[in-house]
Amino acid sequence: NAQRMPKPTEAKAKAAAQLKAAKDKEHPPPPPPEVVEPSSTDRPDGAVYHIGKLLGKGGFAICYSGQLLPSKQKFALKIVKSQMPSKMEQKFQTELQIHSKMRHRNIVQFFRAFSYVNCTFLALELCPNGSLMDMVKRRKGLTEPEVRFYAVQISGAIKYMHGKGIIHRDLKMGNIFLDHQMNAKIGDFGLAALVVTGRDMQTIRRTTLCGTPNYIAPEILEKGKKGHDHMVDIWSLGIIMFAMFTSKPPFQSSTTDEIYRRARERDYEWPSAEVSQKYISQEAKDLVATMLEDADQRPDPDAIVQHPFFTTGYMPSSVEITSKLREIPPEAD
Ligand code: ADP
Repeated sequence: NAQRMPKPTEAKAKAAAQLKAAKDKEHPPPPPPEVVEPSSTDRPDGAVYHIGKLLGKGGFAICYSGQLLPSKQKFALKIVKSQMPSKMEQKFQTELQIHSKMRHRNIVQFFRAFSYVNCTFLALELCPNGSLMDMVKRRKGLTEPEVRFYAVQISGAIKYMHGKGIIHRDLKMGNIFLDHQMNAKIGDFGLAALVVTGRDMQTIRRTTLCGTPNYIAPEILEKGKKGHDHMVDIWSLGIIMFAMFTSKPPFQSSTTDEIYRRARERDYEWPSAEVSQKYISQEAKDLVATMLEDADQRPDPDAIVQHPFFTTGYMPSSVEITSKLREIPPEAD
């Protein structure tokens, strides 16, 4: 009952109002119409989407499930305000340009973009089972066969992107979504880069600082020394594999500087079997170690999937993954 609640002080009320204003500024408001009709200039077929439940909010986008009428085909509708600060605008344009050219079974499929009531809508493949991060946290780490299943899928997507000259640069568990069959789908191409290759096919290295502290390869931090190339995605996959096993990234620390120091010095430890309550094979540890080597020593996606971790171990089928991973163990929250 609101009346019995203590009255907030003026300062508190002001702070709450400021917080709300900041939040409103950060995220576009939920779209008011139940049904979104792409404007005729964007698509002459008069497609109409029925907006469903909220899927999540990101740094600058808000995502709803949506159904295309009358086919009832389901999508994820990612919505951003058409007018946004220039830095975000740049990230969004990169995302549009690169994501729309990707077509792979382990990459969130991009269907179309259109504008409606001052917002830009992206119709994306719907991944109704959250992100790999949600699942790994819920399960407190995955088993070896499950890690094999996801590492193979992500390696395949990386091979495809690199083959097209695209470096993702922000691979992390929170950017890998799960489709209705629990397959991994790489999403969020906001930091991706197209590598321009010169006549001598030498990669023109990019020197921008990007990525998320826990997943950033050390060579990206070495200013002035050399840039970074596609091997940064292999480093991130190494971090993802470690985190899939243990449910936290290897260099996790309270400060960003400490994360970077530990990454530079490869200062990480696998938890003991007593602590983690699970078996992690030497093959798995060896593979992760090679992915966290200096860039020129890291395996490419083909070499990764030929590693004994995959070739000598059991690989589950998607059916087993679907039925098993949907179950939430009783001790989980
Ligand atoms: P941003 O680019 O602003 O970081 P994201 O791409 O991370 O936005 O999307 C924000 C949230 O929306 C995600 O954390 C996730 O919960 C949800 N989401 C994004 N894409 C999909 C998708 N294809 N299917 C289901 N949910 C999605």
